[in-house]
Parts: sequence; C-alpha cells; structure tokens
Amino acid sequence: MQGSNLTLTCNTSGTPMPDLTWTTCQLASNHKVILASQQVWQFLELRLSNLSPLDNECKISCSSENMVGESVASLQLDILFPPSISKLMDAISDHHWCIPFSVSGNPQPTLSWLFRGEAVAEGAFISTRIHDYSEHEYHGCLQLDSPTHINNGEYTLLASNPYGKDQKAIFAHFMHDPWNGELTRMTNHAESFDFIGRFHLRATRPLLGCLPPPSGPSSVISNEDDSASPLHHVSNGSNTPSSSDMNADAVIIGMTKIPVIENPQYFRSSIVQHIKRHNIVLKRELGEGAFGKVFLAECYNLSPDQDKILVAVKTLKEASENARKDFHREAELLTNLQHEHIVTFYGVCVESDPLIMVFEYMKHGDLNKFLRAHGPDAVLMADGQVQQQGELTQSQMLHIAQQIAAGMVYLASQHFVHRDLATRNCLVGENLLVKIGDFGMSRDVYSTDYYRVGGHTMLPIRWMPPESIMYRKFTTESDVWSLGVVLWEIFTYGKQPWYQLSNNEVIECITQGRVLQRPRTCPKEVYDLMLGCWQREPHARLVIREIHSLLLNLAKASPVYLDILG
Ligand code: AMP
Repeated sequence: MQGSNLTLTCNTSGTPMPDLTWTTCQLASNHKVILASQQVWQFLELRLSNLSPLDNECKISCSSENMVGESVASLQLDILFPPSISKLMDAISDHHWCIPFSVSGNPQPTLSWLFRGEAVAEGAFISTRIHDYSEHEYHGCLQLDSPTHINNGEYTLLASNPYGKDQKAIFAHFMHDPWNGELTRMTNHAESFDFIGRFHLRATRPLLGCLPPPSGPSSVISNEDDSASPLHHVSNGSNTPSSSDMNADAVIIGMTKIPVIENPQYFRSSIVQHIKRHNIVLKRELGEGAFGKVFLAECYNLSPDQDKILVAVKTLKEASENARKDFHREAELLTNLQHEHIVTFYGVCVESDPLIMVFEYMKHGDLNKFLRAHGPDAVLMADGQVQQQGELTQSQMLHIAQQIAAGMVYLASQHFVHRDLATRNCLVGENLLVKIGDFGMSRDVYSTDYYRVGGHTMLPIRWMPPESIMYRKFTTESDVWSLGVVLWEIFTYGKQPWYQLSNNEVIECITQGRVLQRPRTCPKEVYDLMLGCWQREPHARLVIREIHSLLLNLAKASPVYLDILG
C-alpha cells in the first residue's frame, strides 16, 4: 500500500558461502532504501519505506553468487494506491471531440462523469475511452460525437477504487451558442432568411445533444465568428469511422511494449519456428537494446540451401512469467509480419535461459548510425587512420525513404500501429537495403530520444504528433507524422529532431503547431511531403500509400548509384 513500509528478505545457501546482492530499478526519490542492513550468514534484507506508486512494476532481484555459480530470485512491486487525476483538459477536436484525461490508481479506478452536476449516461453519443495505459496510469478521453453549444458546460470526472476517490472538473466549450444575440442581429441581415429558416429547423429537433454538424449555411456563422472558432472544426467533422476509430482499442503487447490492435489476424495459425540452441554459435556483440544484448551469430540448418547463415540474435535479459508470455506473443506477431522491408524473423530458441529471438543479420546496423557515418561530419577512425566515408547523395536518401514508406504501407495494411518509427529502429543491409527492424523501443541506447513520464514510461516525443503527446492517441495517422520526422532525419544525416531544444520545449513547440525546418539538402518536393505528414488534424495528413508512391516517383527520377557505398 502507498506510504507503507516493506522489508524484503533474501535467503541463500551454498559452499563456499555465496555473496548476496540486490538489483533494483531506479527507485523513486521519496523512497528510502536500506541496503544490506543485516548481513548475517546467508540472508540479506532490503527495506523500503514510504512506498511510492511511482515504483510500481519495479523489478527487484536478489542474486547469490559464489565461484561455482549464480542463482537469482526476483519480484515485481505492485503498490496499491487511491485514484489521482493528473490531467483533465478542455475539449479538443479530432475525428470526434475529446475531453482528455489521465488518471492513476491501483486497482484500476472506476470512472464516471457529471455534466453540470448531473450524472452522464454513457452511450453512443458520449463515452469514456481509454487509449493507453502503463504502470497503473490510464490516459483517455470522454469522447463526444458532434457536440454543440448544448453540450458546453462543466464536466466533472469522478474516479474511485477501494482505497479512495478523486474528482476534477473542467469547463468544456464546443460551439458558440447561435441563439445568443445572433438571432436579432441576423434578422436585420439581407441574407438572413435562409440562414434563420434552416437553423430554426434544426433547433426544433429534439435536443439530443448531438445535432448534425452544420453544413452549407453554417459558413455564415463561421464568417461571423473568428476563424479559430470551434465551429470551424465541427463543420469539417465526419461521422464515418476512420482508421483511427478502429485503432482506438489498441493494446500494449510484447515485452518491448508494442502497441497493436488485438486483431485475431495476427495470431491466426502462427507457427513460430523453434531453433535448437546447438545450432546457434555466437560470434560477437552487436549492441544492446531494450530487450537485452544483441549478438551476431551463425545459425546452422536454418535454410535448406545453406549449411549456415549469419543472424542477429536478441536475448531477453529478464525472464519473469509476464516477460515470457509477452515473448511468446511477440514471436507470434513477428512470425505473421512478413515483408521485404520488415526485418525477417526466423524464430525463437527457448530451450533454456536466456530466451532468444533470431532475426536476419543486417550488415550496416541501425539507420541512424549509418546516416551519421555517411554525413558531412563523419570521420571514421580505422586502424589509427582517419578516413572519410562517402557522403550520401540525395537519390540515395530518397531510396532509403521509399523503402521505409513501403514497410509502413505494409504495416498499415495489417492495421499495425508502430508508435516508435524512427531511424534508430530501422536497419541497413547490403546494397542500401533498408528494413523496419525494431518493433520495440531502443530506449537504452538512444535514451535521450525518449522523454520519461511517470515512473518508467519513455515516450519518443520528438517523433510524436500533438494528439499523441496531449492524450496518447496512437494511430496509423500518428505513424504518418513519425514518418515525416524520419524523412527529416534522413535529409539531415541523422540529426536529432529539435536537437537545440529541451524535452519540455519540444512538447510546447509541437503542441503549439510548430514544425521542423527544411533541412539544407532537402528538395522542396520532399519538404512538402514532410509538411503533408505534419498536418495538425490527423485526417488531413497524407495517407501512407500516397507518401510511398510520391517517394517512389522521386526516387525513380534520380537513380541510385549504389556502388558509391562499396
Ligand atoms: P535493438 O534491441 O533492436 O534496439 O538493437 C540494438 C542494436 O543492435 C541496434 O541499434 C543495432 O545496431 C543492432 N541490431 C539489432 N538488430 C540487428 C540486426 N538484425 N542486424 C544487425 N544489427 C542489429
């Protein structure tokens, strides 16, 4: 329970007497940790005081080691706490209107709403949606379908669980009241009859709170209003379900926290290939990701034509019951994602720990490193010599961009929302072959690319559109925004987006509508494409197929001379 104290005891035996050590995540600062307070014989205590919910899901391990071997035991904290509403904002419009909120609590709080002090009966017109959750924090919207001035007013969010309650109120404004003074003014207007007549018709319908969005004559109203009036958004509204609506139920799966829609298609008849451990021979370490270490290895008997092939193996560093379940789910998912611009997944090796995933080996590693190594500032130290690598040409950049877009067309066709598209998550093989190579988060290596929120959640805010930053909504359209940022990365040879700004400044810039500047080497057509990806309204953004065919045409117009790269 939040605020209480906890003592963990770790017992061990062995000859010679093993050394005991605790490994914890970075515990929240309001915790007091007393390490090894009594190291008598074979037990060790870890005392935590004033438990904070920020430490929820923190993994604590005790390892016992002597010259003969090592044994590890771990547990995960599950700290109960009353609800707390950390965010409740004025309504924003996207495909629907949304009053964004963030609530935390363990167990999950029950949510309900009051409108002007009266309980809201949820239904098709008005409903609470949770878009995202992590570590007992739930982000969502009170979603309203085409609200009007009737729905303007105070909304109170009530959150409760067995340990307490919280509530917060906000005044939401959807539309100016058309009756408020406008009627008298309009009757004196030469063109008023048509407007008043039609509007009157609408106003005499039962006031369900879901009048259809004004069309045609409503532009008369918006001319009267200032152009930033919410009415402007409403008149552009659409009631047809969009891909984002379908994605609203996206769930987080996978040990790398991949968010996807729970689509049975992913899990249909997926037979994950099992590879024997003795068929994998490790050669060297390639890097470290959120999973654990990544190694270059030789894999025997994988393909009928070749005795052995080079592969990249990803090891799972922690193997709790949940991590194992996620591992198997993710293996099924990866087995079903097959495309020439998605890194090939060969299978798993689960005979013993560590669990392993086997992927095709991409010789030139991640695209971000590759871009930096082929940019104007790249100077490679090889055998004590200073050596300049060939700089990427514009046509090579287009060739890279086109391949990533092709991979994204495929993911969108599978209703897969990536959420972390960035050059660090793409891989480069021979002959400038580029594939989307990571469906998780490379948070460890590129930690400055992520913004820590709450306890352990890391968000790639520099790649995220306003709606993902403001209320954690991730859709195919938000992937399109990230693809625009990937184009910017390519044309700046791997610079960090908004590198001159702090994370908080970036959040401010993006939510206020500022976009990245045109890179020096970027042709106008490509920057226009980026701007098409960075439209504030998700439905106004270019669609992924269009982006791909535009890039393909631009790339075809300037053929790539691959041998420059050697
Ligand atoms: P990840 O866990 O995917 O973030 O991987 C960490 C690092 O390992 C990456 O930045 C790459 O440099 C390298 N790596 C991952 N997968 C592969 C692969 N299939 N081929 C070559 N290098 C890889």
